[in-house]
Amino acid sequence: MRASFPHMGNIHLLMSDLLERLEVEYIVAPPTTTKTLEIGVRHAPEFACLPLKITVGNFIEALDTGADTLLMAGGTGPCRFGYYAETQKRVMEQIGLDFSMVTFESPAAHPAMFVKAFKTIAPDKSVLQVWRALKTSFAKGRCFDLLEKRLLQLRAYEVAPGSTTAAYEAGLELMSKAKSREQIDAAYAEALALLDEVPLDREREVLKIGIVGEFYMLLEPFVNFGVERWLNEHDVYLERSVYLTDWIGPSRRNPVLGVSDADVGRLAHGYLSHHVGGEGQATIGHTMKYIEEGFDGIVHLLPFTCMPETIAKTIFPRLARDMDIPVLSFVIDEQTGKAGVITRLEAFLDLLWSRRRAKGGVRELVAS
Ligand code: SF4
Repeated sequence: MRASFPHMGNIHLLMSDLLERLEVEYIVAPPTTTKTLEIGVRHAPEFACLPLKITVGNFIEALDTGADTLLMAGGTGPCRFGYYAETQKRVMEQIGLDFSMVTFESPAAHPAMFVKAFKTIAPDKSVLQVWRALKTSFAKGRCFDLLEKRLLQLRAYEVAPGSTTAAYEAGLELMSKAKSREQIDAAYAEALALLDEVPLDREREVLKIGIVGEFYMLLEPFVNFGVERWLNEHDVYLERSVYLTDWIGPSRRNPVLGVSDADVGRLAHGYLSHHVGGEGQATIGHTMKYIEEGFDGIVHLLPFTCMPETIAKTIFPRLARDMDIPVLSFVIDEQTGKAGVITRLEAFLDLLWSRRRAKGGVRELVAS
């Protein structure tokens, strides 16, 4: 068996670590590119949401490079994510590809199916061994997330363009080599120090933007055209509403974000009082949190036809009016081009700076 999995931000680092601990042979699919997108668009249903199309592309490229077993997360409605694995399987079977697919259902909703999936890929490992591997890899994944969060906070202040990104990438490299819990803790401390040593201009005036929306669009830089880096490099301090380990962790306490799902639900209550699938309610709840914290604006990313985020998007005009906060939504599909996204972001930043000046040009020093 040679396993593979789709790309989504840093998930390949976490998955590689886990599969090595379980002694499962694996292949990391080629990085997502325009070719991956074209393959997915050619074979997936036209009205499927964009993440499904791209992950089909990742799977086909993984099979082309020697994988024979595809690993996919399951889901529990009400959005279409719960159908992804089955849809991907049927799409690839229809074009005659030969492979096995293993779906990892949520451990909280379907614990027996979760264990069964691990038994399929690592039959020689006991439940205890799998649990230990999961726990250690997850702890490492959380460190990756915390580093990324720090990157988004600091990069707006960097003196030399690219220096924070270079320090972050060096930190990821250090972390990737760590195996034991002690090594992971030491590598994380070293990686954090690398980031904190980057020369910063702490007097620089920056805008504060919260970036919210569908998890795949937020986590995968290929699909969001690297908007986070672009915003940071245009003097924008960023907080993002989704991190990988918070998203896959069953506790829903979200230690990376620092705010639990329950609290996010309470914050959203006046506008969206129930779960609508995906991050629909979280998008509204996090927006309210960013408003409370004095952010200048909100950037909202969603794939075309995404049901939960379309609900959130219909709420934004009223919320933006009530709370006096500019919100810029990007509905992204395979036709979307980077130039159009950047042009709209430039206009949005102009608007936010003019509002800042109209309020008396209050300077906010947010990096600490
Ligand atoms: S959240 Fe939206 S884009 Fe993501 S799987 Fe669900 S419907 Fe598709």
